[in-house]
Amino acid sequence: MLYQKLILSSKIGLPKLMSLNIRAMSVKSTFLQIDELGEPHKVLKKCETQLDSPKDNEILVKMLAAPINPAVINIIQGKYGESPSLPFIPGNEAVAEVLKCGQNVKNVQIGDRIIPIGGHVGTWRTHAIFTGQDVLKVPDNVDNVNAATITVNPATAFRMLRDFVDLKPGDTVIQNGANSAVGQAVIQLCKVWNLQSVNVVRNRPNIDELKAQLKSLGATEVLTEEEIRTTALFKSKQIPSPKLGFNCVGGKSATNVMRHLASKGILVTYGAMSREPLTIPNSALIFKDISFRGFWVSKWSKEHTLEERQQMYNELFELMASGKFAPPVHRLIPLDEYKEAMIELADVKGMIGEKILFDFTK
Ligand code: NDP
Repeated sequence: MLYQKLILSSKIGLPKLMSLNIRAMSVKSTFLQIDELGEPHKVLKKCETQLDSPKDNEILVKMLAAPINPAVINIIQGKYGESPSLPFIPGNEAVAEVLKCGQNVKNVQIGDRIIPIGGHVGTWRTHAIFTGQDVLKVPDNVDNVNAATITVNPATAFRMLRDFVDLKPGDTVIQNGANSAVGQAVIQLCKVWNLQSVNVVRNRPNIDELKAQLKSLGATEVLTEEEIRTTALFKSKQIPSPKLGFNCVGGKSATNVMRHLASKGILVTYGAMSREPLTIPNSALIFKDISFRGFWVSKWSKEHTLEERQQMYNELFELMASGKFAPPVHRLIPLDEYKEAMIELADVKGMIGEKILFDFTK
């Protein structure tokens, strides 16, 4: 079950004197919440509560930025692999500043920037209380957007490139949905690890601009869905056939990607943006023995130790700090604009072209 770590200050039943003390130290938190599943712009509502001082292992944080990820939209809609217990505060990652620490907290201090690493902890709120062990300190030279988005998309790209095929420098990776935040992370990690990336995107009026932007991140090739069907890139041996493919979309787009995989190649499905099922040509299995795998970062995180996760985040933080890993193309909006953002993101046509994050700094 998804869990939410909203530690609300219940004043009920407290002796009057104590209640007054707590109130004097409390901080107002404004947050988004759902009481029922449904379309986000209809079921999300803005609420307020007072948060008390953090106790023992707890820390009080002020949120700085939190992304609106597709998975969170799907959770609110009730179309995800796990159901939240209601009421539910959405948001699965963020960057925040520590305002106050409980007496037993050792890993962070007041003024540090942190990221929560507990998954769906409810980050669409101005202030929160987390447990000290469930956060990681962010290095000074990592920007807020990179930090706020590290645990989901870069982590997914990192694991999918490391855990399915033993890739060597010069090997090729192919992916659809290449302009997604995960896709941009794949492109950048491929560049850092000397892998070639062939990137498939949907056609659009400003396609040349999008191709140039992905190439500036390090993409070897960027092709539209139409171009990938007929490309001679691999037959001409200009680029070796990909040993590994990533599927963010499903449907025909996934079929187009799998057709180019090398013999015994692996297609990893991690997203289903078109909401269409995979169609696998018999020939992909008979003649090329292609394997089909799946990846879910939440499951990976549950099945791996804090040390393993920390090691990955540290590697990613280093790349971010050294300028080798740019944040996704993004737009920052105030929490108050949540309804407009939800309507925009629910549009099945997509083509939004940027990750939207709540900005709590203004
Ligand atoms: P972004 O919001 O950054 O990007 C969305 C992508 O989906 C864009 O490339 C967009 O392309 C494409 N898209 C949107 N609608 C459609 C459509 N109808 N048909 C085809 N493509 C479409 O998303 P993220 O990078 O945050 O996430 C991408 C996907 O990966 C999501 O499904 C998300 O849930 C999943 N994900 C899964 C993880 C896992 O562990 N399994 C972890 C992280 C993400 P366009 O510009 O053409 O609209």
